[in-house]
Amino acid sequence: MLIGCPKEIKPQEYRVGLTPAAAREAVAHGHAVIVETGAGHGAGFEDADYTAAGAAIVGTAAEVFARADLVVKVKEPQAVERAQLREGQILFTYLHLAPDPEQTRDLLASGVTAIAYETVTDAQGGLPLLAPMSEVAGRLAPQVGAWALQKANGGRGVLMGGVPGVGPAQVLVIGGGVVGTQAARVAAGMGAEVTVLDRSLPRLRYLDDVYRGVFKTRYASADATAELIQTADMVVGAVLIPGAAAPKLVTKAQLSTMKRGAVIVDVAIDQGGCFETSKATTHEAPIYEVDGVVHYCVANMPGAVPRTSTIALGNATMPFLIALANKGWRQACTDDPHLLAGLNTHAGKLTNYAVGKALGLDV
Ligand code: NAD
Repeated sequence: MLIGCPKEIKPQEYRVGLTPAAAREAVAHGHAVIVETGAGHGAGFEDADYTAAGAAIVGTAAEVFARADLVVKVKEPQAVERAQLREGQILFTYLHLAPDPEQTRDLLASGVTAIAYETVTDAQGGLPLLAPMSEVAGRLAPQVGAWALQKANGGRGVLMGGVPGVGPAQVLVIGGGVVGTQAARVAAGMGAEVTVLDRSLPRLRYLDDVYRGVFKTRYASADATAELIQTADMVVGAVLIPGAAAPKLVTKAQLSTMKRGAVIVDVAIDQGGCFETSKATTHEAPIYEVDGVVHYCVANMPGAVPRTSTIALGNATMPFLIALANKGWRQACTDDPHLLAGLNTHAGKLTNYAVGKALGLDV
């Protein structure tokens, strides 16, 4: 099969859909690989890295779309890319079709077989191609929060780990899933005192078993949240209710109970955010202040570390990519129901129930 990887064209997207390591793996399985020149540059992979892996470099995205049997990307295809997709071609990328009727219409019109990273499942009930980006965002949250806590950035001028004789920062993490656990681990590793709130008792039991002594856990009642935000130097928002907007767990009125210069890192902003005062920001202007509380609400946090994010995503997508290339999409999806869960469109038909329900379309 001919696997093609174009350069991402969505603004501020520096990740790339195929790492040189994945290209080498595909070539070793007998596939041909073409990569648009400069596609990996933003993630620190140059054309020479791909040619050393056995891939060929092509000059334009148009050539990738015209020749490839399987197009591998990161972000949903933009309109100009969608116009180049065709029936019989496989598209493997993040799609997020549920809130995007325009893209859905174009993919159906193209006839492309589109497999969406975000709906591929695993045996534990997780989303294995979303988890790496949650891990990145979670580990990044205390790092950006620590920066925002510095006085020059509007923060209260508190060092995460304190110093001998001076206490550490108090960090509250709301939601103890993938993002929250990674955020709590890193914050604790920086020397902060960390408490994780979650609504799921099984999750709290797991966290207590594994991380007792590293951070504390509390049940996420409204009372516990109201109490703990008052002493926190940093609050990380990391809740998720699958398929729904994030619940607003801290109101604007409650901000006045927080310390002046405290920092909110609302990772859940891509689902609307779990603080009433959150609004999405960008890497160019990541923070703003409301009632003396610094808010960091970047909706695509992994974009800040495109090299780590690209490699993490590539590690997770590679086995599925190789299965698709080796077997073709039909056999690969027949053999693996978790990959089948990723199938969103095929030959003009919508094939994902949740997307159909969200858009009011037949599946
Ligand atoms: P997850 O499903 O692994 O974890 C979510 C946790 O929230 C679960 O443990 C759940 O029990 C808990 N929860 C649900 N409602 C709660 C409540 N009311 N109070 C306390 N806990 C509650 O999800 P995740 O992968 O950790 O993702 C968390 C959020 O981060 C999602 O909104 C996700 O889209 C977002 N995210 C954002 C970025 C970004 O760049 N901003 C990147 C990755 C993920």
